[in-house]
Amino acid sequence: MRAFFHPDQQLHVPQQFMRTGRISNPADLPSRTEALLAALERRRIKVERPKDYGTAPALTVHTNDYLEFLAGAYGVWTKLPNAGPEVLPNCFPYWNARVELPHRPPCPSPHPIAQAGYYLGDLAVPIGEYTYTSSLAATHTAAAAADAVMAGEGAAYALCRPSGHHARADRASGFCYLNNGAVAAQRLRSKFERVAILDIDAHHGDGTQAIFYQRGDVFTISIHADPAAYYPFFTGYEHERGHGQGEGANLNIPLAPGTGDAELMAALKRAGEAIVRFGAEALVLSLGFDNHAEDPIGVLKVTTAGFQPVGKFIRGLGLPTVVVQEGGYQISVIGDCLDRFFAGAGDFS
Ligand SMILES: [Zn+2]
Repeated sequence: MRAFFHPDQQLHVPQQFMRTGRISNPADLPSRTEALLAALERRRIKVERPKDYGTAPALTVHTNDYLEFLAGAYGVWTKLPNAGPEVLPNCFPYWNARVELPHRPPCPSPHPIAQAGYYLGDLAVPIGEYTYTSSLAATHTAAAAADAVMAGEGAAYALCRPSGHHARADRASGFCYLNNGAVAAQRLRSKFERVAILDIDAHHGDGTQAIFYQRGDVFTISIHADPAAYYPFFTGYEHERGHGQGEGANLNIPLAPGTGDAELMAALKRAGEAIVRFGAEALVLSLGFDNHAEDPIGVLKVTTAGFQPVGKFIRGLGLPTVVVQEGGYQISVIGDCLDRFFAGAGDFS
């Protein structure tokens, strides 16, 4: 299996993260990728650097006004009187989540505070000097992995950081700025008629769901902790099945807090049957390790060993597959989780 990663993805070093009413230390540390890179090295998987694709892959799933905001926000913010170290909003627009609209119109106000509130969906997505650089590099990593699969590779691994699955077409949230999995899926569509995205991160892939909610050509499935008691709270319920041409092309499988390996495999079996029914020709796996029992922000109880049957199951679907890294915050276990996934998946060749 080929693997991709760009060193610029390490430049993003968030300083703060609002958690239960306290500005806390960030969870998305650069050391996460170091742990995952070490796991690849142990398995003797060579890590390739993606080429510079510019903004083209990101613009296939994001709006231009949002990308311009991400690119320029930090520079404008630092000129504000009493500006803090990062862009973080203190006001939010009301938006009625009209599913028939793929994204919102551009922000009506040019003021940096208005724009921050409009384009940043929560207080887990501070923008620092290099946030855009790192996020864009992560889309290049996803695009390169998709290109490898389209060139005939059975599977490719995109070591993306920042993660992507909470990023909508026009909004960052939940440590995610640009949606790497959606970029990969959209790219695969240039070769494959029907693509499925299977997201097993502990959190609902709300951004991915929103991006493809009205489309019948990309089937989005998310297996996650029940949002009634877990971020992102407002989406991820079973009744969300798609809209318009996308009706029936979205599947949410919430898991009760405390759920472990057996329940995850049962959910995967259900997802796999749906993927076959849909007739997917290629797959994007959004792979998160924050469903692990030791994750500091997790509520699920998946074990390290539990990722080996996950890998085997994904391999068994027999589809060209782009594996995109999402969350997972317990540095001491995520490398081993990735190792077990690869042990189960084999090289896909
Ligand atoms: Zn997550």
